[in-house]
Amino acid sequence: MTLFSDLGLIEPLYRAVAAEGYTSPTPIQDKAIPRLLAGHDVLGIAQTGTGKTAAFALPILQHLVKVNKRPAPKSARAVILTPTRELALQIADGFATYGKFVGIKRTVIHGGVSEKPQIAATANGTDVLIATPGRLLDLMNQRRIDLSSLEIFVLDEADRMLDMGFIRDVQKIVRTLPKERQTLLFSATMPDAVSSLAKSLLRTQHERIEVTPPSTTVERIAQKVMFVSRENKRHLLADLLKDGAILRAIVFTRTKHCANRVAEQLQKGGISADAIHGNKSQNARQRSLSSFKAGETRILVATDIAARGIDVDGVSHVINFEMPVEPESYVHRIGRTARAGNEGIAISFCDREEMSALRAIERSIRQPVPVDEKHAYHAAPGARSTQPEGEREESRGNTNHRGRNHNGPKKPGGGGGRPRRSGGGGGGGRDGGGRDGGRPWENRSRAA
Ligand code: AMP
Repeated sequence: MTLFSDLGLIEPLYRAVAAEGYTSPTPIQDKAIPRLLAGHDVLGIAQTGTGKTAAFALPILQHLVKVNKRPAPKSARAVILTPTRELALQIADGFATYGKFVGIKRTVIHGGVSEKPQIAATANGTDVLIATPGRLLDLMNQRRIDLSSLEIFVLDEADRMLDMGFIRDVQKIVRTLPKERQTLLFSATMPDAVSSLAKSLLRTQHERIEVTPPSTTVERIAQKVMFVSRENKRHLLADLLKDGAILRAIVFTRTKHCANRVAEQLQKGGISADAIHGNKSQNARQRSLSSFKAGETRILVATDIAARGIDVDGVSHVINFEMPVEPESYVHRIGRTARAGNEGIAISFCDREEMSALRAIERSIRQPVPVDEKHAYHAAPGARSTQPEGEREESRGNTNHRGRNHNGPKKPGGGGGRPRRSGGGGGGGRDGGGRDGGRPWENRSRAA
């Protein structure tokens, strides 16, 4: 086993790592740190939760200390470009932690807050600039920031940058960078678009480091899926939260609207909950996150983008109130629990319409997600909802509650309400895999 002392770090960095209580480097740190210290470009296929921040922050700090020079006005010696504000702040925290015994100036810039303090903070130059693409480009266009003398460039979460439509901004920023630089690109997944981005950014002789087949994170997490109709999800959630073992949980929804609604419903039920999503101001998001971290809020209801990279220790449960569309998001979501070697529990609520998302997830993680039928709202996946689609809560704004039908356990494959529409054939249809029909992933050799 490699030790931090074997990696060639200078003493003040080693001391900072030891002060954090880290005994040995994580795999990405073990592989990336020596190569980055040697000046190589690195393509890192890794997600948050792997120790990625220290893997790039430590070598960057070491370079900045060793090649000791003042940054030119309005410039930055190292830039970390990351897709969300939360990640930017988290990475800045990492630099503060790992750099606490070296005098390195760091600056964070992101949208959603006033530009003025950011302009002031970069006027005399900074050592490390951690930025989201939109605001950085704005300030570059205003000639407040100039990256032509940059030494190290990190593109973090490249796949998410593409998903979020930041690619143009990233390309514009990259065009202003000097050719002579060290470049690091991190991505949890490597779709073709990320490969070609990597090709255009990294030197041909770069090092490729891959540390996270999703299963490594997934293995430490006890997963289960609960089949439940859309309209009963909130009742099921309320029931689950009666269990005191759910100490601190993140509940995921697909939309901001749903996140707000779930948080409100929990609050009404006397549970301390808060929603976090892109429509909230930066300050509000930070406040929510801080009180969640401090244990004042028990439940954080989040959309995928807002929760990306949230690094809170002690999240005992992740609950997918709505299944994610992308299998990668599932791995990211459930990875919010089981941080730093802890175990965690991930519970997914799956309604009929979400069966194909579940199937895609099971193919992607190459394992079935065990079904938990022992709850009051179990609805076998083949069973039709009691409400026609057009009348569902989601599309009609919460008007139809009379027939909510949550008064007792339903037998698998039977029971709860008669289908009002024909055509699906009831249970045992294409999505009706459930337990008896064999798990869907077993029927397919590869993801489509
Ligand atoms: P990251 O992937 O950078 O978001 O890091 C995930 C979590 O792992 C953070 O809480 C870090 O503080 C923690 N961490 C990073 N490196 C180590 C290490 N070598 N040993 C133990 N914990 C670590």
